[in-house]
Parts: sequence; structure tokens; C-alpha cells
Amino acid sequence: MHPFRLACRNGLSRIRAEGRYRTFTPLKKQADRFPVFTTVQDGVERDVTVWSSNDYLGMGVHPEVIAAAAQAAATMGAGAGGTRNIAGTSHLHDALEAELADLHGKDAALLFTSGFVANQAALSTMLRTLPGWHVFSDAKNHASMIAGIKGAPATVHIFAHNDLADLERLLLAAPPGAPKLIAFESVYSMDGDIAPIAEICDLADRFNAMTYLDEVHAVGLYGETGGGVSERDRVAHRIDIIEGTLAKGFGCHGGYIAADAEIVDFLRSTAAGFIFTTSLPPTTAAAALASIRHVRTTPSRRDALHERAATLKARLAAAGLPVIPTVSHIVPVHVGDAALCKSISHRLFEEFAIYATPINYPTVPVGEERLRLTPCPLHTDAMMDELVTALRSVLAERLQRAA
Ligand SMILES: *Cc1c(COP(=O)(O)O)cnc(C)c1O
Repeated sequence: MHPFRLACRNGLSRIRAEGRYRTFTPLKKQADRFPVFTTVQDGVERDVTVWSSNDYLGMGVHPEVIAAAAQAAATMGAGAGGTRNIAGTSHLHDALEAELADLHGKDAALLFTSGFVANQAALSTMLRTLPGWHVFSDAKNHASMIAGIKGAPATVHIFAHNDLADLERLLLAAPPGAPKLIAFESVYSMDGDIAPIAEICDLADRFNAMTYLDEVHAVGLYGETGGGVSERDRVAHRIDIIEGTLAKGFGCHGGYIAADAEIVDFLRSTAAGFIFTTSLPPTTAAAALASIRHVRTTPSRRDALHERAATLKARLAAAGLPVIPTVSHIVPVHVGDAALCKSISHRLFEEFAIYATPINYPTVPVGEERLRLTPCPLHTDAMMDELVTALRSVLAERLQRAA
């Protein structure tokens, strides 16, 4: 047997033994009834209410967005047919980049295949361009940023999550003349907390560091026009590179960075993850453009999201459920045990037709296992009632023990 096959076999037994074997639940989105999906169980199709989608505003099923995708498919076909350099740039790609630059108040923006690729490609390219970088990376940064930072010829400092004192300590200890980069997120998706962006920018100014901000869980949702927490906090102009996704708040697909013209131009000409891959399909570019334009000019949709999140938090707390307080739209419910977390999620699905993803180690530390709920403007009060009843039932033992 080839050693790799053996490694796969051994790896899989270890993953199974550790309870980390991954299974995916096939769910069929019902565009006209979002967040209701259907699933087939014992040969029968049934409805499931999804509480864990990252389509935070339900824009993926917005009629204008669906129509834009359909029209682009009908007139331009399914795929882009080439890289950006090889007949893969349409007027839609250019318009989308201009829209994203404008959203963040930057000169320019650059599209990538996904938010993951945007982070990985932008960071790794930046860090390979110059010798002697010192990177300051938040301890809870997403795997895609870590993928861009790891393996680059840079000295990496991990600062304690959202900890300004620790960041300052590390900046002070680094060589004063070295090129520095602070990489962090605005909304952290598992804990639902938000970085002190202005204070991090103050430190960046003091130590002449560049700032790289992942706004993936905030674009579309925060700020007057959905420009993210950096817009809300009026600090977007202080961030050198803002990275975002078209796949979460905008409900489509793809990733991007926005920055000044020279940085974008340079990455456009050097980042392998941008250059050597087929550009986003016109359907996606058209849908994303329609979505962003709608979201920017419809603050009521953002207001509805935050109202739904506040209402859900209040209802869970009123029902005595262990909701973890957050300052964002993310609503984690504490479970604190990996096996229990999995089984609760399973029972919600089987017995109550509710889908809520269990979040276990290594995504969160042991003891902090949780269900991660993401309400959207289309979750109704009735759905919340069902969820509260179901959670009280599956968490009954736990609640009794706590009482
Ligand atoms: C989801 C996510 C990404 C990746 O975005 P995709 O468009 O889904 O690839 C990047 N950063 C963070 C913090 C994320 O949660």
C-alpha cells in the first residue's frame, strides 16, 4: 500500500476516535420561504428551519438578486471562461470592484474567488514582497488569514484576542525599523465580539504599522451603508486593507480586498491566487452587484437584522436558556460539552425540524462548546417560539442541574 493511503486510513481512525469525523446534512434552500429548507428523511421531504446560515440578511434569496443572476446567465452564460486576463473580465467585474471600493471609501478593490482566497493570497503576497516583516496577528484570526501568514518569510507575533496591552507589548519588543503589519477581524464569528478598531489604529500609527482588517462577518450588516464596523466606527480611512466576502451578508459568493490604488494594482499584478484562476462567473458578479446596491441603500434590512438578534437574545434569556451575551448579531448558546453539543444539535434536527450547528473544539476551546445561532430578518416570532420550546426540551437536564 502507498504510504499516503495508509496515512489516510490511520488519520481517519484517529479522527473518528476523537469524535471529529465530519458529516454534512444535505439541505435544500427554499428561496421563497427562507430560512426554511427541506431535507429528505426516510424517503420523505420535510421542512427544516435553519438557524445557522451565514446569509445573514437573506440576500441570497432576494428577488432582485435572483433576477440579476438569472438575467446574467441568460445573456452571458454560466461561466466566465477565463482568468481576468484571458477574456474573463466583464463590465460586471469592473462595476463590482468600483462598487466595493466606494462601499469602503477606498480608491480600488480587487475580487477573489472567495474570502478565504482573498486573505490567503493578499497576505502571503504582501509578506513575500519584502524581507523582515513583523506580523501581529490576533489569536482568534480565521484560518484563511493564518494560511496567508504561515509559511511566509515573516516573524509572526500572536497577540491575545482583542488585547491592546498585549499588542502594545509585542509592538514595543519588535525592532523599531522593521516593516509591521497588524492583522485582525472586526466581528469575530464564534464569540460575536468586536475588535477595538480605533485603538488598534492608534497603536498602528504609533509604531508605523500597516493595518489589515477582515470585515467578513460585518460587511452589509454594520455602518450606515453596510460598510462594516470600520464604517460604523468611522475609522475605515485608517485601515490600509479591508477584506470582505460577498458570500455572507451579501448572500452570494466571492471575496475581495479594498485599499489604495497602488496596493490594489500591485496585488492585481502579483498575487498568484488572483492571477491564475478563472474569474467569478457573470451570474455571481451580477447577483453580488444587485445585492450590494440593495443593501447599501436599505438600512431597514440592517435594522431588522439587529432587532431580530436582540429579540432572540431576550427571548432565550427570558426562557432561562444559557445564551452567551454578545455585542453583535451572533447569538451563541452555551453547552460546554462536545458530545452533548452534537447530540443536542442532532435532536433539534430529528425531533424539532430545527437546524443549529454545533461548534466544538478546535473551533472553540474545550468547555466552551456551543450552538451558534444567526437570526436573519426573515426569522419570525413564531419560529423563535418553536426554537425556545425545542431548546428548553433538549437542554432540560442541563437546565435542571443548573437550577
Ligand atoms: C468565512 C470567513 C472567511 C472566508 O470567506 P469565504 O468567502 O466564505 O471564503 C474569511 N474570514 C472569516 C473571518 C470568515 O469567517
